[in-house]
Amino acid sequence: MNKITPQPGIMDIALYQGGQSQLAGHAEPLKLSSNENPFGPSPKAVEAAAAQMAAMNRYPSTDHAELRAAIASAHGVQAENVICGVGSDEVIHFLCQAYAGPGAEVIHTEHGFAMYRISTLAAGATPVEVAERDRYVDVDAILAAVTDATSLVFIANPANPTATLLPMAEITRLADGLPKNVLLVLDGAYVEFAEGYDGGKKLVETRDNVVMTRTFSKLYGLGGLRVGWGYAPLPVIEVLNRIRGPFNLSNAALSGAEAALADKDWVADCLCTNADERARLTGGLRQLGFGCDDSAANFVLARFTDEAEALTVDAYLKEQGIIVRHPKSYNLPHCLRITVGRPEDNTRVLSALTNFKQQAQDVSV
Ligand SMILES: *Cc1c(COP(=O)(O)O)cnc(C)c1O
Repeated sequence: MNKITPQPGIMDIALYQGGQSQLAGHAEPLKLSSNENPFGPSPKAVEAAAAQMAAMNRYPSTDHAELRAAIASAHGVQAENVICGVGSDEVIHFLCQAYAGPGAEVIHTEHGFAMYRISTLAAGATPVEVAERDRYVDVDAILAAVTDATSLVFIANPANPTATLLPMAEITRLADGLPKNVLLVLDGAYVEFAEGYDGGKKLVETRDNVVMTRTFSKLYGLGGLRVGWGYAPLPVIEVLNRIRGPFNLSNAALSGAEAALADKDWVADCLCTNADERARLTGGLRQLGFGCDDSAANFVLARFTDEAEALTVDAYLKEQGIIVRHPKSYNLPHCLRITVGRPEDNTRVLSALTNFKQQAQDVSV
């Protein structure tokens, strides 16, 4: 065939949908659709990244030694077991490129993060979707889906878009139950928001087949700078570094991330506000009669009667200048995912939902 043809699987990739950020008729909409830090980045991170701009003729470090050392001391991990990527998305991509390919199966769950499927297809491998149990990752269902062809298992804990957290005992049971030739990836994009949970660090340190991914995009507020990292056994790090672009992170990204880590007070303030506001949003939603699981992240998932009601609420919020996420592509068409905003933002969301409920009742009387 004389035709330019991509590798099998690539045209099966549905383009990633980012959170909407613009709204016709609203110059400054309230964006609660991408789980970003509503307080922005630490001012110290902005300053450090900006300070690098004058030297943009210079290539950045290829081994990220300084940032890895800063990550190691901030998170109590070993620097040599850390690999940095252009967001944790890139680390997910490396894992699929390195360990999956034609014939291999990669397990993700029913409501799992979209990048697992995208990176699996990009590598020519086959995504295998496993059911969850009432929006919680189901360890037994994952173990039952493992075949001789399984190479990777991706779960996020806390999960997105459900915000649910599996206890460490369940994660350990999953790691124990997997064959030794299957790599378990614990996506820790929201670990900081889950009190008392460290992302499964110990499992990485005591097994050959567990990897943890982390990011600067959520709590640290650097989604636009693109910095994430993976924590893995040395043999895995040595594999991933072979396919990592030597200059994947810019000087601005490296310095910004390092400064963000160092600003511990700022991070502590953001975490504290998130915990209070998350409880207020969850309680407010329940009081209005909407379903909402306990959240271990910086967003909540509100459940409605059906897709029609979710869409009506979504449209109503947009009229009020508020953008949330309708996670239909995550098999949750009857839900809306709402990022925890600043206190005044959450007040706006709750009062809009209260008005919506009031209107709906007025109509039905
Ligand atoms: C946001 C998010 C990521 C990471 O994004 P990066 O910006 O690429 O670090 C990874 N996994 C989940 C589940 C997320 O929600």
